[in-house]
Amino acid sequence: MHDPIPTVTLPNGIAVPALGLGTWQMGETRARANEEIDSIRLGLDLGMTLVDTAEMYAEGGAELIVGKALEDRRDEVFLVSKVYPWNASRTGTIAACEASLKRLGTDRLDLYLLHWRGDHPLADTVAAFEELRAAGKIGAWGVSNFDTADMEELFALPGGENCAANQVLYNLSRRGVEYDLLPWCQSHGVALMAYSPIEQGRLVHHPELIRIAKAYQATPAQVALAFLLERDGVIAIPKSANLRRVRENRDAADLEISEEDWATLDATFPPPDHKVPLEMI
Ligand code: NDP
Repeated sequence: MHDPIPTVTLPNGIAVPALGLGTWQMGETRARANEEIDSIRLGLDLGMTLVDTAEMYAEGGAELIVGKALEDRRDEVFLVSKVYPWNASRTGTIAACEASLKRLGTDRLDLYLLHWRGDHPLADTVAAFEELRAAGKIGAWGVSNFDTADMEELFALPGGENCAANQVLYNLSRRGVEYDLLPWCQSHGVALMAYSPIEQGRLVHHPELIRIAKAYQATPAQVALAFLLERDGVIAIPKSANLRRVRENRDAADLEISEEDWATLDATFPPPDHKVPLEMI
């Protein structure tokens, strides 16, 4: 028996799993397509029903893979995609969304994010997001790689406070957001989506994480994910195109780490005591 995956409730009242599926680096080679599709489908079977993709990933290739994986299961999924900053003009955002929908084989996204800040005025991107929302093409919108000052600027714009999520780099080895951005998002009801939650696989080699994981008959990746699952309003989106590792990632929700081991993890990966500018991968 598994513990249920915790959920995060978005401002529109929709509850999504706090453990989803990333797709960066999927769709790049035909040879891996079946494995990638099977991993997404296994993730859904296991309750990781939030799928994160972007027009950037394999230049649309990842969206095609996601589209195939969801062919007969669209309604089970909370589907997230992102617009390139250089496409994020008033009309460009709408055209990019239409193109993503086509590749994904669906008529709606559940969440549409601005991938990072670019040169188009934020107000134009927000206006386009609101238009897409009114047309039913997206359920909600948000941003990615926005630091606290960017969020303040966004919220000061007409409609800006409708932002539902901010997707940023956050994991045990990158805790800068805990100083100001995470509390800001929590107090404004904005979900924080933690990307590269296992530092693109690098965290699994950390000796202290290996030691702690062993004590729970768990893996370092599971401890890294459990760390994020502990936090209110945080959604982790690990990527794996390997069936064993998809199962392993889902089982992170079953881990219960002791106070003593959390303290050891804090000593090994200290939380920030000053403002750290948001890092990006
Ligand atoms: P992750 O931290 O999710 O790590 C993914 C890598 O780790 C892959 O190489 C994967 O290999 C491996 N891996 C997965 N699970 C395990 C495990 N249990 N044990 C050991 N290795 C494992 O990094 P990502 O950068 O992919 O981040 C996750 C998602 O976040 C992305 O896929 C994307 O959707 C999103 N993202 C968003 C960004 C943004 O700017 N908004 C930037 C970066 C990512 P394998 O597939 O072979 O298992």
